[in-house]
Amino acid sequence: MSRHWAYISIGSNLGDRLQNCLQGIAALEADHLIQLVARSPFYETEPVDFLDQDWFLNGAIKIETVLAPLELLGKLQRVQAAAGRTSKGVRYGPRVLDLDIIFYEDLVMRVLDLTIPHERMHKRRFVLQPICDIDASVVHPVLKKDVRQLLAQLNPEEQKIRPCSFGS
Ligand code: ADP
Ligand code: MG
Repeated sequence: MSRHWAYISIGSNLGDRLQNCLQGIAALEADHLIQLVARSPFYETEPVDFLDQDWFLNGAIKIETVLAPLELLGKLQRVQAAAGRTSKGVRYGPRVLDLDIIFYEDLVMRVLDLTIPHERMHKRRFVLQPICDIDASVVHPVLKKDVRQLLAQLNPEEQKIRPCSFGS
């Protein structure tokens, strides 16, 4: 079985946000089919899309895994569910834990439940900044730009983020 690298974004804006994110990472690490390679710092981030909700805590990890993309998505969804996330609620609304596949090597795929690279990642500072902290040179396989360039394209007036003052 071959190992593949992938980037996962992590977010929470309900309950103990840091604890939710750290427990999500720990649950992934505990799976023997997943190895944690790197973890970004966390940021407090202004909500986008659905604005009437609390700020998020966001970060990202780089992993290596023998799981195929849909198997990895299934794993992320089980970890989200174990954290207490229900399928109810507003799209883009408050959530205990959100785990998204951002990149899976330079794979480009679109099936019913899974789009890689993540469809909106290149417009989201809360995704790009943590990945940039891990490796600014990761290239988006469709846009052919690295995450540093994608981050530089965002409007500096929009999507405020600040380093998390209480995260490790
Ligand atoms: P979002 O993360 O975009 O705010 P949700 O977490 O509610 O929204 O996810 C909605 C659906 O997005 C999931 O059921 C999942 O099947 C789908 N999805 C599509 N592409 C991805 C991806 N790259 N990573 C995670 N989920 C994805
Ligand atoms: Mg999600």
